[in-house]
Amino acid sequence: MTYYDSHVHSKHSKDGVPSVDVICERAVLMGLNGIAITDHVDIDLGESELEVLRKLNDDVSAAREKYGGRLEIAMGVELGEGNHDPSLAEKVVSLGSLDFVIGSLHRQRERKDYYYLDYEREDLDDLMRGYYRELREMVRGGRFDVVGHINYQARYMNAATRAKLDLSLYYNVLREILEDTARAGKGIEINTSGLWRGLGFTLPTLEVVRMFRDAGGEIVTTGSDAHRAEHVGLKLDGAVECLRAAGFRRYAFFKEREPFFHDV
Ligand SMILES: [Zn+2]
Repeated sequence: MTYYDSHVHSKHSKDGVPSVDVICERAVLMGLNGIAITDHVDIDLGESELEVLRKLNDDVSAAREKYGGRLEIAMGVELGEGNHDPSLAEKVVSLGSLDFVIGSLHRQRERKDYYYLDYEREDLDDLMRGYYRELREMVRGGRFDVVGHINYQARYMNAATRAKLDLSLYYNVLREILEDTARAGKGIEINTSGLWRGLGFTLPTLEVVRMFRDAGGEIVTTGSDAHRAEHVGLKLDGAVECLRAAGFRRYAFFKEREPFFHDV
């Protein structure tokens, strides 16, 4: 079995700790075949964010020299909120050195990151509708390869509120978004942070991964969303299990913005 971690953050992400070198060392130790370093570029923070990718590019080039033959290293980005400024997002994805782009939504316009919201005070239904409204915008904008951690808000919302919100109430709209994604030839990721953080499910859940397959989706990547070295490659076997259960026979790892497939 081959394992690829397509979602790892280095110190160039605001909340990242490890250097690219330490990540690669860890990935080799974990027996991974490849990793994509996908540092955050948050569109709401403006043009200065492009600096992240310049630094990352230097580190990835050095790591490729050091680990060549032992580990495939993709230069990626987790592009946050690309729908908030399409022209800046376009600038990011046009950088020639990128192998892979995760398109993520961590916050709605004029709102804080879902991580920081006080869910006891929020109108959860309004929040869910807002999330899908913007996710659809992001998908239609098309400046990404895979959609990052679908239902990211659920990672915090249902952990914070006693009354668990039934996400299936929103499956009709989510199904349409997945259909748009598949039709555009784009993919989704299975993010294992929910597993190693103890939530007990991947992001998105098996049900949603199945919906993506039913919608004609073919491209799925697997990633840990590690911000620390010890989380690199964690629970990728859980992602593979989810892929199999959803009926997928292969998953993707990106090079030069093209998916390369591996059997599960
Ligand atoms: Zn993210």
